[in-house]
Amino acid sequence: MPPSRKEYLLQQKEKHGRRLFGVFPAQYPREILWALNVLPVEIWDPPLEVSHANAHLQPYICSVVRLGLELILQGHGRNLDGFLFPHTCDSIQNLASIVNDYLGLNKPCYFFYHPKAPYRPSSRLFYSRQLKDLVSNLEAQCGPLDTGELQRRVEQGRQIASTLGELYRLRGEGKLRASNQAFYQVIRRGEYLHPDDFLPLLRQFRDSSEGDVKTGRGVVLSGVVPNPPEILALLDEIGVRVGDDDFLSCSRRLLPGPGRGTDPFEALTEGYFAMAPCTTKDSPVSERISYLMTKVQRSGAKGVIFWMVKFCEPELFDVPQVVEGLRREGVATLVLDTELNQGLSGQMRTRVEAFVEMIT
Ligand code: SF4
Repeated sequence: MPPSRKEYLLQQKEKHGRRLFGVFPAQYPREILWALNVLPVEIWDPPLEVSHANAHLQPYICSVVRLGLELILQGHGRNLDGFLFPHTCDSIQNLASIVNDYLGLNKPCYFFYHPKAPYRPSSRLFYSRQLKDLVSNLEAQCGPLDTGELQRRVEQGRQIASTLGELYRLRGEGKLRASNQAFYQVIRRGEYLHPDDFLPLLRQFRDSSEGDVKTGRGVVLSGVVPNPPEILALLDEIGVRVGDDDFLSCSRRLLPGPGRGTDPFEALTEGYFAMAPCTTKDSPVSERISYLMTKVQRSGAKGVIFWMVKFCEPELFDVPQVVEGLRREGVATLVLDTELNQGLSGQMRTRVEAFVEMIT
């Protein structure tokens, strides 16, 4: 039985002397944190009842931000040594401001700004400078960065991305004997496991799960994060195989990994610009449609389910046009509006079941 997330994090602090940083979604150079002996602990969807956060937020803020703030207000972040806020969207930016400027937590907060599309040559320079600025800011708290260690962690980042890529490929080809729930449980443990533990876990999962499965009814999932997990359980129950995904928390940001450049900053920059088209990077809708079409064709999926987090502005701006584009290509789509950790309503179950009947 693996230790719980909480036990694991305490062990990391006590046994390995690692600092723990709460990291908000979505993309950030985790290899730099690993190299500084900091363990990033990502905050996507903590299982909490919201009781305090509503006093600080508008009613139309997504539950990723609402639950993240709740986690801090309930004191669950007391063992953290700092926070990192990537500039993913306006909502995270607002959260960063509330936490840093108003809560008086006395914990260091770091910020990481990504360039948004359309990219120019100056975007690469900007990203590379952001990496170096982040390092200088972190060094004041965590000590000097050892570039040899950064090289080692960048290589580990490549190995993780490559193993994840194999898992996705095997699943798409119907050669991975794992339920939808098991797949995402393993992938998502990378949100808090140290790479020295996560890489062996991924490899063990690949080796123990490889094998032919009955293909058939398959779908591609698109959205931010696979929560509520009851939807995955329903897909398992009705025999639907997830052939691929376009989740911001999963394949969109995780699959490219650092590039092959020998300079670690260059490799991390290459990795960022190799990321999949994404609403949080302002990627053109046409790129998102062709990217999803490739996923549908490669995995033999019969349709795409847009698994939306309610009030997620970046995704909501794009989804009507992406749905329309896919429909023009003859791909069936279903849009589900979900709240994190809210389970599966009868109405949602019926809609998923009806969609699956329609595509088979
Ligand atoms: S769910 Fe959407 S709006 Fe909320 S933090 Fe994520 S990207 Fe931003």
